[in-house]
Amino acid sequence: MERRRIVTTSWDDGDRQDLRLAEILRSRKIRGTFYVPITPYQGRPALSHAELRALSSEGFEIGAHGFSHKHLWRLSPAELAKEISPCKPILEDVLGAEVRMFCYPRGRYDSNVVRTLKEAGYQGARTVRMLATRLEFDPFEMPTTVQMAPHRRFSYIKNVARAGKLEGLQVFLAHMTRLDNWLELAKRLFDSVLQNGGIWHLYGHSWEIEELGLWQDLEEILNYVCNREGVTYIPNWELIPVCAAEPHETIKTHLRTS
Ligand SMILES: [Zn+2]
Repeated sequence: MERRRIVTTSWDDGDRQDLRLAEILRSRKIRGTFYVPITPYQGRPALSHAELRALSSEGFEIGAHGFSHKHLWRLSPAELAKEISPCKPILEDVLGAEVRMFCYPRGRYDSNVVRTLKEAGYQGARTVRMLATRLEFDPFEMPTTVQMAPHRRFSYIKNVARAGKLEGLQVFLAHMTRLDNWLELAKRLFDSVLQNGGIWHLYGHSWEIEELGLWQDLEEILNYVCNREGVTYIPNWELIPVCAAEPHETIKTHLRTS
């Protein structure tokens, strides 16, 4: 069977520079998901309701990113409910569209967080796990391939170890010589998706792209992956039916074996 080749992107925190990001994606017909907290991230200028509505109506996905971007790991059930449950109805009211996805602030979560998300009606959640390209994953542990930011080799080791997935270790070992050059790493991982099928998922933060001066790099990598024959460009939630069709490890299995 022909394996699917998919490109998706996601952008966290709802900073107003997401508008510049959206322009760069739009001009290359690359789709994506913007994960926004309800209160502005670190008091920075945030996307207005009208801007969120405009992004949503042109086909970008808006996902929830916690009420106040608080760490969700090890919060009490009452605190968890306060951070997770109101986001979906508030955003749906702003957008006039369904909000299906959640993104864990700072990537931290546990089984209580996942349960609260399911009870609140979300269909999936994105993590900060990197170096993943497989079509198979748990919807509430959606991984990414690369972050739009340079990392030290040690950060990849930590990321792979924390995720505890064999895939991460395999990709880490196969691309060890490229880990110091994230742009090169991102291109070669895209090449491997082209060759073998899979998902290429770029994530990042527009405020960080601005702070680190990475706008040109962003254009370079998106030019590399855009308009390819046989590749589907989708926002994050459209991965859910794809991954549901594939066998995957459940969170339970993951927790039991790690
Ligand atoms: Zn965030």
